[in-house]
Amino acid sequence: MNIVQVYKQFPSQNDCIAHLEKVRWHNKPVCPYCKSTKVSSYKQENRHHCNNCNTSFSVTVGTIFHKTKVDLQKWFVAISQVLNAKKGISARQLARDIEVNKDTAWYMAMRIRRAMNEYGDLLEGIIEVDETYIGGKPRKGTINNPDKTGKQNKRGRGTKKIPVVGLAQRGGRVHAKVIKGLNHKSLSRIIKGHIKPETSKVFTDEFKGYCKVAGFVEHKTVDHQKEYVNGEVHTNTVESFWALLKRGIVGQYHKISADHLPKYIHEFCYRHNHRKNDFVFDLTISRALGV
Ligand SMILES: [Zn+2]
Repeated sequence: MNIVQVYKQFPSQNDCIAHLEKVRWHNKPVCPYCKSTKVSSYKQENRHHCNNCNTSFSVTVGTIFHKTKVDLQKWFVAISQVLNAKKGISARQLARDIEVNKDTAWYMAMRIRRAMNEYGDLLEGIIEVDETYIGGKPRKGTINNPDKTGKQNKRGRGTKKIPVVGLAQRGGRVHAKVIKGLNHKSLSRIIKGHIKPETSKVFTDEFKGYCKVAGFVEHKTVDHQKEYVNGEVHTNTVESFWALLKRGIVGQYHKISADHLPKYIHEFCYRHNHRKNDFVFDLTISRALGV
């Protein structure tokens, strides 16, 4: 879906609501508060009244669109823009695309990212695992960002980078997440939790944090001091994912706080994992509705 297709398929707010009602309820409204189906509908206001708990509601209650003042058409365009933006989309760009202010665009994108958070099936086959460091506050004391004394700090000073671990099934899905404390316990736990060990092989570099992996799954390493590829053993897939994630984060999202980083990671994983899915727009709408 692109902007033109969204506007063609959903020419008005009512079309968007009709679509959401179809996806969420198959056109038979259910009260979001008490789950009753004894509902009277007021079509003109796009609202429904629950005759069981005596509340009125619309299809957006309890979804990412709840209480929004922005037209649903703009939301639909925003979803398509986020899904299409391989390297991410800045709040500023999204604001221009849908003609809302930057804060609104930022808030909408954060809600859309919420719908992009999925656990997914366990990975299997060849799985490359690697860790990286992302983000951190801009360095103080550089030419562009001098500290109060005007002194320049050495490279790396003043940054607090966040460790992230990624698992990429070759030719398949990725799973990446922020990790607390990069050590063999946390790494083994994450790998165990996301793969089918009996049908998998895990490839990593020689980082000592992977020392216990061979205890629960076939494990091969490539020594990055000497070589990057050793037959089928390499971590190029997960490293390409890091490259894209880092370009996106540096290019679009200049300052990401540690609190928000996981949401941006979900966004990049989701886009990667659904890169061949023609129905990703519909999928995202249903996830946005919590269906
Ligand atoms: Zn009710």
